[in-house]
Amino acid sequence: MARRPLIAANWKMNKTIAEARGFCEQLLPDVEELGPDGAEVVVCPPYLALPLVAQLCEGSDVGVAAQNMYFEDSGAFTGEVSAAMLLDAGADGVVLGHSERRQLFGETDGGLAKKVPAALAAGLLPILCVGESEGERERGETEEVLRRQVEADLAEVADEALGGIVIAYEPIWAIGTGKTATAEQANDASAFIRSLVAARNTEAGDLIRIQYGGSVKPANAAELLGQSDIDGALVGGASLDPEDFAAIVTAA
Ligand code: PEP
Repeated sequence: MARRPLIAANWKMNKTIAEARGFCEQLLPDVEELGPDGAEVVVCPPYLALPLVAQLCEGSDVGVAAQNMYFEDSGAFTGEVSAAMLLDAGADGVVLGHSERRQLFGETDGGLAKKVPAALAAGLLPILCVGESEGERERGETEEVLRRQVEADLAEVADEALGGIVIAYEPIWAIGTGKTATAEQANDASAFIRSLVAARNTEAGDLIRIQYGGSVKPANAAELLGQSDIDGALVGGASLDPEDFAAIVTAA
């Protein structure tokens, strides 16, 4: 089954609106040159820059995703943003459960179990992040952690809808550290995640795209993206520079 790789730029809390414009003006011609046979590309700006990025990317092959959302439609939830608001602002997808949100902002599997179906119901592509800490890997608990996260976070998604989401395997010890999982470690973890989805629905196991994230750079992208079970990358640091990010898209 040929799965189109998805390369996503997670800007985190970086770039003003003007900087976001400059990035898009540089990136869009490079992506256009690669044509529709290349990887699918998504930019995940901070909320404030999202409407402008969506406007600049309209009609191009580049999609836009937010970095978080709340599962309720509206109401007294100060500081939160709903799926409908993201759609209205021009988003096509949303990153959910990034390890920084889990570690720094108290994101739980219980909350994610509501966020993933809410995103799907609204027509947003959920990019669900899962991954183990360094200690968990050293203790041999990687598969246990991945199983717990995948099972809990996708508990409320119908089996036949699982193929329509994206999972980013992001070992926490590799995020923003310059340490990258070996291609074998990343592929093994991705294959394991795929097997968890396939156990619920065989077709969804074939369809679901599993990205790798953790210090992906132009220099290591081709090897990681060449693995059989890795269908793209969620890129943090290297996605802030349009040239580096375009090089990763080209590698895919
Ligand atoms: C990320 O933010 O999801 C990420 C993988 O960051 P970095 O590429 O900087 O490790």
